Amino acid sequence: MTRLRLLVFNPALSVLDYRLPAGMTTEIGSVVLAPLGPRQVLGIVWEAERLPGAEVPDAKLRPILEVLPVPPFPAPLRRLIEWTADYYCAPMNGVARMALGSMAALRGGGSTTEYRLSGLEPKRMTPQRAAALDALHGEQASIRELAELASVSDGVLRGMLGAGLLEPVTVDLDRPYPRARPDHAAPDLSEDQQAAADRFVVAVQDAAFAPFLLDGVTGSGKTECYFEAVAEAIRQNRQVLVLLPEIALTQNFLRRFEARFGTPPVLWHSSLKQSERRRAWRAIVSGEAQVVVGARSALFMPYRQLGLIVVDEAHEVSFKQDDGVRYNARDVAVIRARFEKIPVILASATPALESLQLAEAGVYEKIDLPARFGGAELPAIDIVDLRSEVPERGHWLAPRLVAEMRARLERGEQSLLFLNRRGYAPLTLCRHCGYRFQCPNCSAWLVEHRLSRRLACHHCGHETPVPEECPECHTGDCLVACGPGVERIADEVAELLPEARLALVTSDTLNTPEKIGAFVAAAEGGAIDVIIGTQLVTKGYHFPELTLVGVVDADLGLEGGDLRAGERTYQQIAQVAGRAGRGEKPGAVLIQTRHPEAAVIAALAAGDRDAFYAAEAEARKDAGAPPFGRWAAIIVSSETEAEAREAARAIGGARPNLPDVMVLGPAPAPLALLRGRYRYRLLINARRTAQVQDVIRDWLGKLDFPQGVRVAVDIDPYSF
Ligand code: ADP
Ligand code: ZN
Repeated sequence: MTRLRLLVFNPALSVLDYRLPAGMTTEIGSVVLAPLGPRQVLGIVWEAERLPGAEVPDAKLRPILEVLPVPPFPAPLRRLIEWTADYYCAPMNGVARMALGSMAALRGGGSTTEYRLSGLEPKRMTPQRAAALDALHGEQASIRELAELASVSDGVLRGMLGAGLLEPVTVDLDRPYPRARPDHAAPDLSEDQQAAADRFVVAVQDAAFAPFLLDGVTGSGKTECYFEAVAEAIRQNRQVLVLLPEIALTQNFLRRFEARFGTPPVLWHSSLKQSERRRAWRAIVSGEAQVVVGARSALFMPYRQLGLIVVDEAHEVSFKQDDGVRYNARDVAVIRARFEKIPVILASATPALESLQLAEAGVYEKIDLPARFGGAELPAIDIVDLRSEVPERGHWLAPRLVAEMRARLERGEQSLLFLNRRGYAPLTLCRHCGYRFQCPNCSAWLVEHRLSRRLACHHCGHETPVPEECPECHTGDCLVACGPGVERIADEVAELLPEARLALVTSDTLNTPEKIGAFVAAAEGGAIDVIIGTQLVTKGYHFPELTLVGVVDADLGLEGGDLRAGERTYQQIAQVAGRAGRGEKPGAVLIQTRHPEAAVIAALAAGDRDAFYAAEAEARKDAGAPPFGRWAAIIVSSETEAEAREAARAIGGARPNLPDVMVLGPAPAPLALLRGRYRYRLLINARRTAQVQDVIRDWLGKLDFPQGVRVAVDIDPYSF
């Protein structure tokens, strides 16, 4: 009899033994279906010695039900799953889950049915039907996805289908993706670019683990360099994974990719439709998908023959996942490359201190692109000290910044104002009684969005219409907005420069690929004079007529004082500054601040990157922060305050007494209430050599918690 040890997808149990029935064959890594109680669960056949579990007597073993028709998880991926679970103190099945497609994708390809508007006029019109007809124009998806898009119930759409307003379309899930052509349109590279590209190409040919830090100033043409490595991998018939920090950036990337390779890459991210997911997953697994561009979740896919990983904008905070398995995709990408024995390129103009440190230590090979492509100069950066250059009453833009914008407008050039705050105002209060609008689920203020006339929580998505009167004192027309968001800045620009054509760029206004595409086309075509945006516009874009960048509030990111505030502020401002003067005309940057003396701001003003990194390294050394020491966090949450507090105290009471591990807290987490859960936090600061994970596992393993308590471990946390 053959025993199988499975990693199963069940929240409570993760390792179970089964037997292989006669006539079935499996290998290590096979994806199977097995009985669990009255239900069926997915499982992956694992090496028994690497997955210790309970020994069940032979007679009690149940047979597995089916081996699913997909290739077994290859050894490097299984090692990656083990490594990730171990390093991030996460359950192994939680990590492995990220590698699995949907049940439907596991079952096979074939075809599926989607629906679209038939164009027929409804005989009977209801408000919901009208909304659906409006929202679903040009869309094609499953009934459930369409219902979600149109914010109506499935029933409304079924009714429309019955009335002939929707028509079914058969979607072939096995239709092949067009082939990328490695030599479709190779550009002439600059000398620096060529040297970098040559190095990458050799590394792809060598097919050995080789981590690179591609450190190039904004506009240096990093993309073109790593495209040559992508081309070589395609020639070698190996797959490529390109990780991008945000889906919003992919539009621009896709266009450049298509221009270079003659066809778009395969996309993988959380907003794909079901049918797209199924098709993409199967193409990834079969090896048909040559180049996959995706968000961090693309990292765990079962690629058939990966030949290269690129992490673009590798410093970006969004590579860090903050729920479920709390991992950093940048770091795991390097580990995956090691297990796959392939090169990995981390590209950035503002690398994380950790990455620079590893390059200095010789772990990463550093490749520099010190100059902008085509001889464009980096922009001149100037400080606007808001203490002496005071904006007009009720305004946020200093006179000098406004004058510079006006000059650009007169010359037909573009300006970009950056403020990393969505909505109209971060806080709304009643002028009569002082009532402040707070989220019922989170310890956060509700943010007024004037365009949609709503108050919204940026943490949990709670929304409510802006009320006519104060809910506390019932005075009408009494609400005042405190502080600026991008919508308010847009109002100010409209007032000061009424003839300017404005574009407001936030995730509220640019929430579909079509809208992003339209914005980019308008900005490139010179149909926009002033862009006002959040971090969405800080990277990836190349607008040749953009010659002025204004940072509305450089101090914003420095408040709150979390671990990476300085680095993040530096990166954001350096990136947005990098949008200026990328064409023929020189660029200028004005940074509004009340703290010109802060190390970050001073380094930016002096254009002295090394000074910033040196100061940051000093500060982190003093604090025992990464990369010189290690941080970890334990976050305890519950729906009741007392339960969360009790559990946090119990953990604090059992803290290890070790010379190289210091425990701070428990204390209420900075977001003490999040999505209806009360949160407490313990911070662990350890020497670099400490075995933090083992310590934490040992520590928490001894404790029991009530049902409603969740304990999450965050290794190398970004925010808490
Ligand atoms: P980075 O990512 O380093 O900021 P990009 O890769 O966006 O820089 O390149 C900046 C601009 O220069 C882009 O518009 C790009 O198309 C252009 N560019 C870079 N290298 C070349 C090249 N070798 N030939 C033509 N255009 C190039
Ligand atoms: Zn909330």
